Amino acid sequence: MTRRQWIHTSGMAALASAAQPLWADPDSRFDILIKNGEVRDAGRGFRQNADVGIKDGKVAAIETSIPAERGIDVVNAEGMYVTPGLVDLHTHVYHSLGFGIEADPLAATSGVTTWVDAGSFSHNQAGAFRKFIVEPAQSRIFGYVYLYPVTRNPDEDPVQYVRRNMRRTGEVVVENRDILIGVKFQVGSNMNGRWSLDFLKIARELCDKYELPLMAHVSFAPPETDQVMELLRAGDVLTHCFNTHAIGILDDAGKIRSSVKEARSRGVLFDVGHGAGSFNFEIARKALDQGFLPDSISTDVYTASINGPVYDMPTTLTKMQYLGMSLDDILVRATINPAKVVNRIPGMGTLAVGGPADIALLEIEDGDFQLIDSQRNTVNVAKRIVSRLTICRGRRVVAPV
Ligand SMILES: [Zn+2]
Repeated sequence: MTRRQWIHTSGMAALASAAQPLWADPDSRFDILIKNGEVRDAGRGFRQNADVGIKDGKVAAIETSIPAERGIDVVNAEGMYVTPGLVDLHTHVYHSLGFGIEADPLAATSGVTTWVDAGSFSHNQAGAFRKFIVEPAQSRIFGYVYLYPVTRNPDEDPVQYVRRNMRRTGEVVVENRDILIGVKFQVGSNMNGRWSLDFLKIARELCDKYELPLMAHVSFAPPETDQVMELLRAGDVLTHCFNTHAIGILDDAGKIRSSVKEARSRGVLFDVGHGAGSFNFEIARKALDQGFLPDSISTDVYTASINGPVYDMPTTLTKMQYLGMSLDDILVRATINPAKVVNRIPGMGTLAVGGPADIALLEIEDGDFQLIDSQRNTVNVAKRIVSRLTICRGRRVVAPV
């Protein structure tokens, strides 16, 4: 034991040192042993060539060298980054609207260990979300409930209808706090007609009453951006932050709006939410040039975006790399930052002894790759981020057969 170099740094140190090592018995073997990779946990500034031992769903050891015999399943990660599993804060993995995708097959190839469904279901479908989506999955799945139930009678006044469903929406999130995070709402004239601002006010009232965070999709005005910002609070997420639509973070001169800066300073979070229509290279570049980095990088993957322009999380991360963000800046926004929004699993979004063994093996691949934004602008890059292996709860995530 004395020559073993235990690697503990801030954040997880107390958790790791409070107990005996999880593999104190020298005859015990790790379920999975990842050798020769570079452990890169950007959230706590940890970067070191080290081997990672996984046992019983947890990270049991991070050491400079662990003999291969100590592993039952030994993975050679030479040339790869061993990072916390990616957390995708805006996805659609429920199927009621016909646009949800299967989480696990994409998890297996993309390094995503945690999916957050951004309101593909309403309160009366939460039970089905739990039973048929969350429980069978190898990866972790959480969700925001959609405030505007899809089962609405078209003859009923929409504002009355949403108000009538407000209480139940709040109650369902509270009753299912282990898997539900808050309320998703689409703000935009194209989504809710002339009632959009009314609905947003109802969403605000609901989230205040039940103390829930709101995720707001933004698209076409009205309402105006400033009106939307005014109604967002600390912990709320504005998704589609680099869209080209009238409700957007930039003013007509291409500058970050002061209402957006104020919202950020009081704790409103800005999420990429790429999707089929909401990510534009030029808008993102203008924002980044002004120091406005997103708080989280997410895909908004669904049936209409999975075959392009989104494809997957590594492709979305590669786009942010193309725009000039450093790998660590990117990883923070694809691991610890969205994990803090989920805030349900201790240690999620980090890679440290004692924490959950949710891990991605990422590699930078050289070649000639085309990237496409939502307006079909294309660029070519010589490097892209790819995922080689996804481990969730201490097991390899495999595509179901
Ligand atoms: Zn979406």
